[in-house]
Amino acid sequence: MTSGFFQEWGEAGIVQIPISMAPPLRQVNSYLLRGPEGVTIIDPGPRTAATEREWGEILRELRLRPGDITSIVLTHHHPDHFGMAGYLQSLTQAAVYMSARSYEESERMWGQGSTVDAALPALFRQHGMPGEWLHQLPAHLRSFIGQVTPFPEVTFVEEGSSILMGGRSWEPVMSGGHAPGHLSFYDQGRRVMICGDAVLPQISPNISLVPDSEPYPLQSFIDGLERLGAYDVSMAFPGHRSPFDYFDERIRLLIQHHEQRLERMERLLQEVPLTGFEVCKTLFGTKLGIHQMRFAMSETLAHLLELVRQGRAAMEETGGDAGFRFRALQQTYKI
Ligand SMILES: [Zn+2]
Ligand SMILES: [Zn+2]
Repeated sequence: MTSGFFQEWGEAGIVQIPISMAPPLRQVNSYLLRGPEGVTIIDPGPRTAATEREWGEILRELRLRPGDITSIVLTHHHPDHFGMAGYLQSLTQAAVYMSARSYEESERMWGQGSTVDAALPALFRQHGMPGEWLHQLPAHLRSFIGQVTPFPEVTFVEEGSSILMGGRSWEPVMSGGHAPGHLSFYDQGRRVMICGDAVLPQISPNISLVPDSEPYPLQSFIDGLERLGAYDVSMAFPGHRSPFDYFDERIRLLIQHHEQRLERMERLLQEVPLTGFEVCKTLFGTKLGIHQMRFAMSETLAHLLELVRQGRAAMEETGGDAGFRFRALQQTYKI
């Protein structure tokens, strides 16, 4: 059944509810599952005036009372997935489940003691980002706090346990790189994977280098893809875009995309040593808003650090304003 608000995937017992969010993604998928244990909402979206209104309309259209919602399950801490959880919990008294690692990350990014609005510009400065971008970062980062307020009271769920949703038992599968502690959920009986942003159709999930978090996020991301690829999946329900039936193929393409990106960066560095920002500019240009520039820089550094980890590049001090630059350690000879 399809309405203006939702689409029912009858065989999987899952209702897909697109929730609005800022461009460029515009929509995040929330999923709703009904079972004898109650109603579960997965990833309710960011908290904004628009999404508060949308959830009111959805509950009316699905003829649900707030008290019918018994669980809110979060794949990861990003505001477009986690943000609304505390607000919905205050309306419904539902339990909110996420991984401990993911909750730690939400505190690092948006908690009261967060220092990321200083630490991220400091990191990007060391890698050559000019002041015109750096100055925009603190306000940009703080702009997400409203979308994640209030924080929910959480119950931790971990790999090796199972979680009941829609009357079925789901296995949490952890991955990283896009978001540390990210959980996907697998229903073996129906071969269905709810995969958040760990695997997306059409879009390559952003690889996020965050100060004091995962040191090699690209390695974590690829490890996660390989773990997810071991599951037999007939239908995948992603955090953005439409559910898809080519999970294995999508994983293979994402791994290939990152291998090609690493090779391209290595070739750039073989010509001349470059700062992270110089590589970022070459790959993504500079006609980006601050949000996309932050993602581009963060992903570029994640790739460069992966080249370092693999012994294909070295990070060395420049002695100048930009603290570091990257140099290729191997030459690729074409025969
Ligand atoms: Zn995400
Ligand atoms: Zn997302």
